[in-house]
This record gives sequence, structure tokens and C-alpha cells, in this order.
Amino acid sequence: MELENFACPNPTCLDFSRTNAGNIALYTQYGRKQVRLLICKTCNKTFSELKGTPFWDSRLDWETIEDIYRSLIDGRGIRATARQYGLSKNTVKRYLRLAQKNPTTVEAFLLERGVLSKTGHTLHEMVERFSSSWERVVREKRERSVPAWTGSTSEA
Ligand SMILES: [Zn+2]
Repeated sequence: MELENFACPNPTCLDFSRTNAGNIALYTQYGRKQVRLLICKTCNKTFSELKGTPFWDSRLDWETIEDIYRSLIDGRGIRATARQYGLSKNTVKRYLRLAQKNPTTVEAFLLERGVLSKTGHTLHEMVERFSSSWERVVREKRERSVPAWTGSTSEA
């Protein structure tokens, strides 16, 4: 994401929440993922570019996250993607869910990383393709998770 699209997250700052205000600069980059630490020149507070994004607590490196989305967008299923990259199906599902919940953020990330092109397959199509099967998976899981030993389907 371009620096001018970030806004200062400090609520007491004069430029709080303002984008394109010219106050955000690159401070440093850190970690295996080379995440950008940004600084607001108005209040001099630093913040991570991931703050408030779905990738904030992500434990995978960027390349793996890219691989997951590229694979799903290319039409592979959850199981095939998980096997290809040695991940659990739950991990793949978690990133699929991120794309379903935050399509704009995930799409911006993938465009910036060159995984998506503006003319190619869109993230939206991928999410759509999975939405019906995803609901089925959730439903089946719920049906299976009824505890057999109580015979009860308590929803409490
Ligand atoms: Zn600020």
C-alpha cells in the first residue's frame, strides 16, 4: 500500500485518521516479512503497516500467504492447496476466510505483491467460488459436532 493511503492511528494526533496528509513516512522495516514501520511526522509516533489489518497476527511469511492465495485463485481447492505447500487445511481455510471477510484489504495486498493483476482472475471470483462450498463445510461441521454422548443439541 502506498504511504499516502495510511493514516495516523493515534487518536490524539492532529492528523488522526487522515490520509493523503503528507504526514506518514517510512521509519524502518522489521522481521522476516520486512514489515514497514511507519512514522507520523505530526505526532512522531510509529506504527506498523499491519496494524488493524487482517494480517496483523499472521504467523506465515509473505511468500506462503501469497502462495495460498495464488493457488486458490488459480482454481485449486483447499485440500490441494494445503497439500501443495505442506500446510494444514485449517490454515488455508483461515486465509480464505480473511479474503471473505476483508476482500478489499486482501485484494490490495495481493495487487501490491503482484499476485493479482487488474485484468486477471479477481479475488472476488475466487471468494464467490468458495462461498457455497464453504457454507456447506460449516454446516456439516456443525452437524458432526453434536455431542453423541449427551444426545442433546443444546445451543446455549
Ligand atoms: Zn500522528
